[in-house]
Amino acid sequence: MFVTRFAPSPTGYLHRGHAFSALTAFEAARAVGGRFILRIEDIDVTRSRREFEDAIYEDLDWLGIAWESPVRRQSEHLDDYQAALAALTADHLTYRCFRTRKELAQAAASAPHGRAETFRGGPLPPLEETERLAAGSPFAWRLSLDAAEQALAGRPLSFVEEGEGPGGEHGTVAIDPGLAGGDVVLARKDVGVAYHLAVVVDDALQGVTHVIRGQDLFEAAHVQRLLQALLDLPTPIYRHHRLLTGPDGKRFAKRDHAETLRDLRARGVSPGELRAEMGFD
Ligand code: GLU
Repeated sequence: MFVTRFAPSPTGYLHRGHAFSALTAFEAARAVGGRFILRIEDIDVTRSRREFEDAIYEDLDWLGIAWESPVRRQSEHLDDYQAALAALTADHLTYRCFRTRKELAQAAASAPHGRAETFRGGPLPPLEETERLAAGSPFAWRLSLDAAEQALAGRPLSFVEEGEGPGGEHGTVAIDPGLAGGDVVLARKDVGVAYHLAVVVDDALQGVTHVIRGQDLFEAAHVQRLLQALLDLPTPIYRHHRLLTGPDGKRFAKRDHAETLRDLRARGVSPGELRAEMGFD
């Protein structure tokens, strides 16, 4: 059975880009008589708000999208992510990272081709780590790509891309786990879990067979595929879709204050008009 999902983070109001993504997944499920799941990715307690979550339900309903209930809200399942983290840690695939944002930025700046978000390191020397722990310094858990590579012992990993990556990637894609930012954070200092781990655990627990989402998350699939292998979880098929762009050619984004679906609604745009504008009939 085909199972797909739309997994927004309730950190703002939905805009056209979200509507396109949600409709792409919903219509794909409908076309094959499959299931469509809505998942609320609200682990970022500093940015998630109930008000935005309620608006997601309203907006999707307005668009004519129907989803299964109950809706999985990630904030209610932290134990599941903790268990996955514990399994990876028991396999020596993680390490504590005490570095501050500033230290990480400095490390990236001095790296030859440093990107601020790319990090590859390792644990502190044991004595220093013990001291930091005793002092109560906060730490994040990171995935060690070196340890992961060793654990895989040369086993190549790939995923099936039925849509298209930003570089036209399609078909069987061999993973490059470093693409998503090096030793990615699995558990943030403040919330005890982070995006990649939560998504991988949930997609497996919810039996998602097809991950349909924007191309901006294509690189994430590489490390998510790696996590699936390390956690012995099934791998869904990926369908990354193009990102909707506005008249200025730029993609819709929260940070650019893209017009929200509620704004559209308030100025009298109908769901049918919006669907037609985006190529759905
Ligand atoms: N929660 C993520 C976002 O809003 C999407 C996660 C996913 O589709 O894998 O960007």
